[in-house]
Amino acid sequence: MNTRHITIIGAGIGGLTTALLLKRKGFKVTVYERAKEFLPLGAGLMLGINAMQVIKQLGLHEKLEALGQKLTKLNLTDEQLQPLSFVDLSGFEHKYQVGSLAIHRADLQNLLINELGSEHILLSKSLARIEKKEQLTLTFEDNTTVVADVLIGADGIKSKVRAEIFEPTVIRHAQQLCWRGVSNFSLPAKYAHELNVIWGRGKRFGFVNINDKQVYWFALLNSNAKVNLQFNLIEDFKGVHSDVLALIDSINPMEVIQNDITDLKPFKKWYVDNVCLIGDAAHASTPNMGQGACQAIEDAYVLSNCLAIYTVNDAFAQYQKLRIKKALMIVNRSWVMGKLAQIDNGFFIWFRNTMMKMTPEVFSRNAMREIFDLEYKI
Ligand SMILES: Cc1cc2nc3c(=O)[nH]c(=O)nc-3n(C[C@H](O)[C@H](O)[C@H](O)COP(=O)(O)OP(=O)(O)OC[C@H]3O[C@@H](n4cnc5c(N)ncnc54)[C@H](O)[C@@H]3O)c2cc1C
Repeated sequence: MNTRHITIIGAGIGGLTTALLLKRKGFKVTVYERAKEFLPLGAGLMLGINAMQVIKQLGLHEKLEALGQKLTKLNLTDEQLQPLSFVDLSGFEHKYQVGSLAIHRADLQNLLINELGSEHILLSKSLARIEKKEQLTLTFEDNTTVVADVLIGADGIKSKVRAEIFEPTVIRHAQQLCWRGVSNFSLPAKYAHELNVIWGRGKRFGFVNINDKQVYWFALLNSNAKVNLQFNLIEDFKGVHSDVLALIDSINPMEVIQNDITDLKPFKKWYVDNVCLIGDAAHASTPNMGQGACQAIEDAYVLSNCLAIYTVNDAFAQYQKLRIKKALMIVNRSWVMGKLAQIDNGFFIWFRNTMMKMTPEVFSRNAMREIFDLEYKI
C-alpha cells in the first residue's frame, strides 16, 4: 500500500484519469479544479483504442460503451462524401479486444468523477501562484493555500502550473477556426458507426453518432487576422452532400462551441523536481487526429504505473522518457495533417486528393497501429 499524497491541478480527462488510477494503486489524491460545478459542457470526443485499453484496465469500458457509440470506420471524403481514404477499425478491435468509441465528453467526465468519488475533487479552486521550496505552497484565487509534496499539473494548454514552474513555452495558432456541437439528429443508418470528415477547399466538416439520438459534428474554416469569420455553416458548406446539409440545418446556433485551433510548441522537460505536467499542459496537439484526450489518458496510465514503482523523481523521469516520443509525434503529425486538410489552392487539392486515393489502406492501418499500441516497458 502506498500512502503518499499526490496533488493534482485540473479535473479534465487527464487529471481525473490520473487521480483514479493513482487511487486504485493506494495513493491519496486531491484534485483542485477551478470550475464552480461540473456542468455537461463540451461536445463529442473520439476515444481511440489506445485510450480504450486504459479504460478497459479500469474496468469501465462496458459502462462507457453503453453511453457512447462504437466506431468501426474512419472516412476522409470529398464534399460529396466520396472516399479519399478510409481505415476499417474492426480488425483492430479484434486484435486489442476493445474498440474505438465516440462519446459525449460530459459522459466520460461524469463516469470518471463517479468512479473517483467527488470527495477527492475540490471545486472553485483556481490555482493562482506556486511557491516552491522543499515543499510546494499553492495559493488559489480565493486566497486559500495548501501545501503539497508532489504536484501534477493537468490544467490544460494554458497551464498555470507550467507558467509558474517551467521555462516559458509557446502556444501556436494554426489560423483555423473551429465550430462544434451535438445535434439531436437521426443520420441515415449507413453512417451508424462511422466518422466521416469532408476535406473541402480551405474547410472541413466532420460528423459521427455519439449514441442513438445524437450526432457530434465539427466544422473548420481557414482564418486570418483580416477576416472576421461569422458562424454561417449553411452558406460556408453549400453544395456539400445533402445528408450533411440536413445535419447542418438541425444545428442550434445557441449550442455551438467556437475555438481557435492551437497547440503547444514541443518542449523537452515535463518535470522539475516534484512537479510534473500531463496532457495538454505538457503536449497539447491540434485536434486533427482526435488524440489529445487519448494522449492525456496514456500519460495517466504511464505516470501512475511509474509512481507505483519508482521514487517520485525517478517516476517523473521514466514517465517522460517513455511518453515524449509518441506524444510529440502526435503533436507534429496533427499539425501537418491540419495544414493538408485545409489547403485552399485548387491544383494542390487535386494533387492531395489523387495521392490520398492512390495510397493503399495498409499505410493508414500501420499509422493507426502505431497510435493504438500501448506497449510501455515501465
Ligand atoms: C475542437 C476539438 C476537438 C477535439 N476532439 C478530440 C477527440 O475527438 N479525441 C481526443 O482524444 N481529443 C480531442 N480533443 C483534445 C482534447 O479535448 C484535449 O486534448 C483534452 O481535453 C486534454 O485534457 P486535459 O485533461 O489535459 O486538459 P483539459 O481538458 O483542458 O482540462 C484541464 C482542466 O484544468 C482546469 N484548470 C485550468 N486552469 C486551472 C487552474 N488555474 N486551477 C485549477 N484548475 C484549472 C480546467 O478547468 C479543466 O477542467 C479535441 C480538442 C478540440 C479543441
